Amino acid sequence: MLENYGALEASCPIVKDLREETELVWINPDRTTWAEGAKQIDLTMADVDDAEARLERFAPFIMKCFPETREKVGIIESVLTPVPQLQRRLNEKYGSRLDGKLLLKQDSHLAIAGSVKARGGIYEVLKYTEDLAMEHGLLSGVEDDYAKLAAPEARAFFSQYTVQVGSTGNLGMSIGIMSAAVGFQVIVHMSADAKQWKKDLLRQHGVTVMEYSSDYSEAVKQGRASSDANPKSYFVDDENSRNLFLGYAVAAKRLVGQLQALDVTVDDRHPLFVYIPCGVGGAPGGITFGLKQMFGDSVHVFFVEPTQAPCMLLGMATGLQNEISVQDIGLTGLTHADGLAVGRASGFVGRVMKPILSGEFTIRDAKLYDYMRDLLESEEIFIEPSACASIQGVVMLNRFAETQAYLEKNGLGEKMPQASHILWATGGNLVPESIREEYVNTHL
Ligand SMILES: *Cc1c(COP(=O)(O)O)cnc(C)c1O
Repeated sequence: MLENYGALEASCPIVKDLREETELVWINPDRTTWAEGAKQIDLTMADVDDAEARLERFAPFIMKCFPETREKVGIIESVLTPVPQLQRRLNEKYGSRLDGKLLLKQDSHLAIAGSVKARGGIYEVLKYTEDLAMEHGLLSGVEDDYAKLAAPEARAFFSQYTVQVGSTGNLGMSIGIMSAAVGFQVIVHMSADAKQWKKDLLRQHGVTVMEYSSDYSEAVKQGRASSDANPKSYFVDDENSRNLFLGYAVAAKRLVGQLQALDVTVDDRHPLFVYIPCGVGGAPGGITFGLKQMFGDSVHVFFVEPTQAPCMLLGMATGLQNEISVQDIGLTGLTHADGLAVGRASGFVGRVMKPILSGEFTIRDAKLYDYMRDLLESEEIFIEPSACASIQGVVMLNRFAETQAYLEKNGLGEKMPQASHILWATGGNLVPESIREEYVNTHL
């Protein structure tokens, strides 16, 4: 606990509700128009375009290493699908009164890593691969054929280098699997809450897994120290990486065509609401930045965090960003939500989100399993419990007075029948059958 906790609570009353584990919504008072917000952010559309182009250059290489991506010619992308049965279920069971169209963005089923981390994690490994290959003459330029990086000589070259990352699980899987495919040595530093099956899977890919009895921040610290001690080692810094962030942002560009294909209009009269589970912030932050670039003021993005680990909400609401942790206000940071058990948010992401994020919901662990069963039973789609945090947004949007006020204030009230809502399903496909069964039978 903070020594001056009392003063913090007095200056920022929502801290008390967070401390008491109340399920709530926080509306970001600093959100402004996209025209204004964009000026406060030093990343631009050109950065997202650059990331997208890099992923395209690597597509022939990805196709070679991962035959399962052949169908999409080496582009790692997930489907966007309407989930009307889930919408009916939520309206009947929880009184959600959700109008408009409900859609599920299935990053849970992304190739290679089975989670949203396939975007940022894989992108960052490829960026490092490209930098090395250009520097050492394995590629002559961006026009070169990247498929040749899969040749044995190239792999032998990359094996001199090590990639390291601290992770609660999914980021480690994405970085680990991709780095091993390129030929890098890989060390994943895992926090105590990382699941055994994730460690096992990584070891099967030849990844070195270091285990710590501490939380995520400590695993990151250890990983960074280990990497700094080796001049041929690269550390993926989940808390500050622009590369990860931009890899995630590419999702939004591709979403434009997917919405068109479904005849979903997004404009001033047809608002889009997006709900994304948040851990350290990189994935939801990057996606939000991309969405704002594509849809500007027509898109409204909300993050969702567990009541025990609302690190981004705490950092943004107090303005302290990464200078405060959930442990500082007496929370444990422990949650069943894999990937969301983060005590301290990324300061970099928090600052980018300040002018553009609409707000944040919190959710209790027990509900993650309820929502997971709701989706499974109504649509026959499995996503992991942490990914189900997104559902809290649509369930509570019309139930909290604060969100009602948000809709009114932004002139959205009468537009809601024309609105679309996207639940960002962030993970699930790699969860083994036995664990799925365990989840289905978990009642907290
Ligand atoms: C990592 C992760 C998130 C959140 O991403 P952050 O970049 O940590 O905010 C959400 N859901 C799942 C399943 C994840 O693995």
